[in-house]
Amino acid sequence: MADFDLIVIGSGPGGYVAAIRAAQLGLKTACVESRETLGGTCLNVGCIPSKAMLHASEYFDAAANGAMAAMGIKVKPELDLDTMHGQRRDAVKGLTGGIEFLFKKNKVEWIKGRAAFTSANSIDVAGKSYTAENFIIATGSSVTPLPGVEVDNAKGIIVDSTGALELAKVPAHMVVIGGGVIGLELGSVWRRLGAKVTVVEFLDQILPGMDGDVRKEANKIFKKQGFEFKLSTKVTGAQVKGKKAVLSVEPAAGGAAESIEADCVLVSIGRRPNTDGLALDKAGLAVNARGQIEIDHDFRTTIPGIWAIGDVVPGPMLAHKAEDEGIACAENIAGLTGIINHDVIPSVVYTAPEIAGVGLTEEAAKAKGEIKVGKFPMMANSRAKTNHEPDGFVKVISDAATDRVLGVWCIASVAGTMIAEAAIAMEFGATSEDIAYTCHAHPTHSEALKEAAMAVQGKPIHM
Ligand code: FAD
Ligand code: NAD
Repeated sequence: MADFDLIVIGSGPGGYVAAIRAAQLGLKTACVESRETLGGTCLNVGCIPSKAMLHASEYFDAAANGAMAAMGIKVKPELDLDTMHGQRRDAVKGLTGGIEFLFKKNKVEWIKGRAAFTSANSIDVAGKSYTAENFIIATGSSVTPLPGVEVDNAKGIIVDSTGALELAKVPAHMVVIGGGVIGLELGSVWRRLGAKVTVVEFLDQILPGMDGDVRKEANKIFKKQGFEFKLSTKVTGAQVKGKKAVLSVEPAAGGAAESIEADCVLVSIGRRPNTDGLALDKAGLAVNARGQIEIDHDFRTTIPGIWAIGDVVPGPMLAHKAEDEGIACAENIAGLTGIINHDVIPSVVYTAPEIAGVGLTEEAAKAKGEIKVGKFPMMANSRAKTNHEPDGFVKVISDAATDRVLGVWCIASVAGTMIAEAAIAMEFGATSEDIAYTCHAHPTHSEALKEAAMAVQGKPIHM
């Protein structure tokens, strides 16, 4: 008999959620984690600490940039970076400790150390062998390195996202390589605290994968905030000279090179799946060309009894996607039917304003057939206007024939909260008319979603 019904490898939002659900369903479950604390990238060095710094720095910025003074609150902020880092660490400690508590409560055994397969039904962790009827690989992802730009988080000059969360002082000039989610979120933190931030992006626009209008508008808003963008530009190397880094950059299409001096360089050009050291071959598994473990609709790999979820499998690298896959996968292992609708996974960039979307972009929807689009500016939303948050818009994209909503995109101070309503509507197959005729509380930012849905029919009230 095997030691466990299920061993989950990795305790990120995919792994820990899968382990808890499996234990709730009566499976004898263990979770292997090599970090000192549970919670994976998300809780330790990702979603949570970045949001702690974004939240605190937003308050600082509002006090420093005159936004509070405009509402009659005169303050002269003084930065206490140690305390700001302290509240970030407290948030991480509280939440990772919370997972340990939930493991104990649900009788999930934490096996401490790195797992490596020794066969399709056994692993080795710290020299000890464990067998299980089922394994879920939930080993997540780590930073994609950029050749010629060597990260050294301890020095704090060329850093990745983990190093950028821990900077001991505000850099005078930060260069962000990659205008994606991490670059814009962590770039925002340090810009708000006083750094000049230059973003070097290989493509001709920031935020690849998002709706075209959203990308353009976001670029305009970030520029207004003081970000400098070098689009269609590639970094070819970096050298550390004393306390500075000197970057060599050139046009992506080729041309004259130039150098940029920075006090800190953040490398944020994407993340890659973690499979090194897992000895997948011993289990009979292989990875695809992108280093991911391929799965079917039920999260099964090609080897019976081995399943995979989260950042290590194809799809967006998002904590909530990993969590939902964890629940569904555990339910499938327990003999239930766990399903994820991968067409309705919201994504949010936690800048100010926030940027959020769910479903198809306008470009992707158009490529599939006739569509209708309704757009409503936040400037015309009474709550956003009253709160001095005029930037952004909501856009609803629907099928021209059926009116079924295909995508919703939104730039607004609370876009991350607003997008949940759009996701529920889409999950239930709503039409734009369904949203337009749903009563929305006044005054709320969410009324902009209702108005954008009304605009699909050409009939918004406040525009
Ligand atoms: P992970 O969270 O990466 O966890 C995998 C775990 O497996 C790790 O703890 C690792 O130590 C462990 N592990 C790996 N190999 C082994 C092994 N062989 N043996 C034992 N243990 C192993 N997503 C969002 O949705 N919202 C956000 O706001 C957000 N912010 C982010 C901010 C930053 C700075 C970063 C870097 C990421 C952010 N993400 C965000 C992405 C999110 O963190 C990931 O999508 C999510 O953590 C993936 O979950 P996972 O369970 O697949 O893997
Ligand atoms: P990303 O894929 O979002 O952005 C990387 C950017 O770097 C892209 O715009 C890409 O064109 C650019 N790039 C790639 N190579 C380059 C080069 N050589 N020079 C210049 N630019 C280059 O990746 P990320 O920002 O590192 O984030 C990684 C993952 O973490 C994302 O998949 C994201 O889903 C997840 N994440 C999510 C959140 C969130 O949900 N709020 C926050 C942080 C991270």
